[in-house]
Amino acid sequence: MVYSVKTSKADEFINITGIVAQAVRESGVKDGIVTVFVPHTTAGVTINENADPDVTWDILYTLNKVFPDRSEYRHFEGNSHAHVKASLMGSSCTVIIENGQLMLGTWQGIYFCEFDGPRNRKVYIKVMGN
Ligand code: ZN
Repeated sequence: MVYSVKTSKADEFINITGIVAQAVRESGVKDGIVTVFVPHTTAGVTINENADPDVTWDILYTLNKVFPDRSEYRHFEGNSHAHVKASLMGSSCTVIIENGQLMLGTWQGIYFCEFDGPRNRKVYIKVMGN
């Protein structure tokens, strides 16, 4: 399944846990795994705290501090800082499904990570199991 995500900022984390849970429900799979894949080179996906929104703010703050745009970068597009951050977060995550539920920890959410927005993005979700 392909889902569209419209980002509105240069850098942002968007909680897509609900979209993934809905894909699992619609699949009818009760026992299996779901893979979330981001087919972009300046965006990624990660799992982290869903309770305090300051956590994702702090992650973005840290990534921007540690990996600022640098004049030494060679990439002609001028967005190497975004490529670096996307690689760090990764392009996919896998979550176990039991009894039709995502086996996330109480404080975990799945986040689409935009690093070169705003853009129209895609997320691929594949549910496997029975
Ligand atoms: Zn680029």
